[in-house]
Amino acid sequence: MSDNSPTYGFDTLQIHAGSRPDPATGARQTPIYQTTAYVFRDAEHAAALFNLQEVGFIYSRLTNPTVAVLQERIATLEGGVGAVCCSSGHAAQIMALFPLMAPGRNVVVSTRLYGGTVTQFSHTIKRFGWSATFVDFDDLDAVKAAIDDDTRAVFCESIANPGGYITDLDAIAKIADGAGIPLIVDNTTATPYLCRPFEHGASLVVHSTTKYLTGNGTVTGGAVVDSGTFDWSASDKFPSLSAPEPAYHGLKFQETFGPLAYTFHGIAIGLRDLGMTMNPQAAHYTLMGIETLSLRMERHVKNAHTIATWLENDPRVESVTYAGLKSSPYYDRVEKICPRGAGGLFTFAIKGGYEACVKLVDALEIFSHVANLGDTRSLIIHSASTTHRQLTAEQQKAAGAAPNMVRLSIGIEDADDLIGDLDQALAKATS
Ligand SMILES: *Cc1c(COP(=O)(O)O)cnc(C)c1O
Repeated sequence: MSDNSPTYGFDTLQIHAGSRPDPATGARQTPIYQTTAYVFRDAEHAAALFNLQEVGFIYSRLTNPTVAVLQERIATLEGGVGAVCCSSGHAAQIMALFPLMAPGRNVVVSTRLYGGTVTQFSHTIKRFGWSATFVDFDDLDAVKAAIDDDTRAVFCESIANPGGYITDLDAIAKIADGAGIPLIVDNTTATPYLCRPFEHGASLVVHSTTKYLTGNGTVTGGAVVDSGTFDWSASDKFPSLSAPEPAYHGLKFQETFGPLAYTFHGIAIGLRDLGMTMNPQAAHYTLMGIETLSLRMERHVKNAHTIATWLENDPRVESVTYAGLKSSPYYDRVEKICPRGAGGLFTFAIKGGYEACVKLVDALEIFSHVANLGDTRSLIIHSASTTHRQLTAEQQKAAGAAPNMVRLSIGIEDADDLIGDLDQALAKATS
């Protein structure tokens, strides 16, 4: 396609957005541009590129044609104006905050987050002089109260991994908007097929492309997507985007690039100086995966619903937290936030506690015990002893990772086979 036509449907865009036959060879599939640098036409061309007066390829730490196709495809699927891909989901989170934050500034974040993100936000970002304030995002007054003069963003996950929690994005976006700061939504576990955070008022989206977008457990990657709608010059809170940039001869990003200011800053400053770049091989694998995103998500959702329902009716199981079940307190939010389904992840608690969880994990044959999610294969993890191990007991509970719970990432295999596997493993775990 020559440009992103918003009139095409999701299934068409996931295959075509951003890609065109290779101008040099006609290759229909996006080539892997395995190159570090690009020859300048002449000295004037080189100078224009370095001055950001002309857009083009200089060096693959900043831009690469294979990665650029993926960036455009993800931006299109999210309904944003631009995206910057990076080396991992965690890199994307730092890249997303980087233009907004400075020493002494804070971000208000949900308590219900991926375990690694809780660790990154509660410890590592302090090294930059940033801090995170953790709040229960169901308590809207508490979210409002946590925002102060130094807050530069609000951060949450659409469908929060692992506890089957769905954030009321519209309500949170309204609060962020009222405070003049952007809402950043980690849309990894929902994917743009199930949830489009920009339609609920978010300004920025981050992804771990490692998960469903790639879908086959091959490469790590991340993306920061910009809606292009936030006015960085409305206050003096975001000088990196509104004020003269000394590292570019006093260029003002928003004045110069308009709605693409944040994306250009991500490439020209973020990737240039932090270097958390996605490599073209990774972009290739993720492009392959995205072509079938909607088909996979439909099956993930269908299987997850079938298996969650079966587990909920099994006497060996204490509880199931899947927002797609009527028993979930978040059932009503599915219709509003992710109408195509509550995703493929959920946790369940088994009678027998920690011991039984460990036995269950060891007894399963189809499910793999791995610290990953969003694979075509069904995966299981005992979060309390692995991904959420660094968290306090209180943080574990808040994140839906109590010691008697296991998390499932339901794959796209035959649901009957998955149920059979869980049945035999539960028998061993609880005997
Ligand atoms: C995996 C994950 C991350 C981190 O992504 P990496 O690619 O592993 O760095 C962040 N958020 C969520 C919701 C995730 O599932």
